[in-house]
Amino acid sequence: MVCCWCGRQTIVHTSFTAINPWRRFYACPDQASDCRFLGWYHPQMCACSTMIIQGLLRPRNELEAHKLLKSTCESERFTVCSVGSCF
Ligand SMILES: [Zn+2]
Repeated sequence: MVCCWCGRQTIVHTSFTAINPWRRFYACPDQASDCRFLGWYHPQMCACSTMIIQGLLRPRNELEAHKLLKSTCESERFTVCSVGSCF
């Protein structure tokens, strides 16, 4: 059992960053706290494995970026419409 700096039992998350893709880590269960504890569950991957996983994640990241852009465009369109009272 791994405890964070505020004394709680940590939970395990998965990193999706380019530097640590799919690497699991311990974190404080209270994300609103100032604890900021982070401990690695898995050792660092070799450069070859990191490159392969980054390639596998690229389509997913591009899809997420596309969804975010589409969402932003739709919310801006809604704002313009509601300001203009176009019901
Ligand atoms: Zn904590």
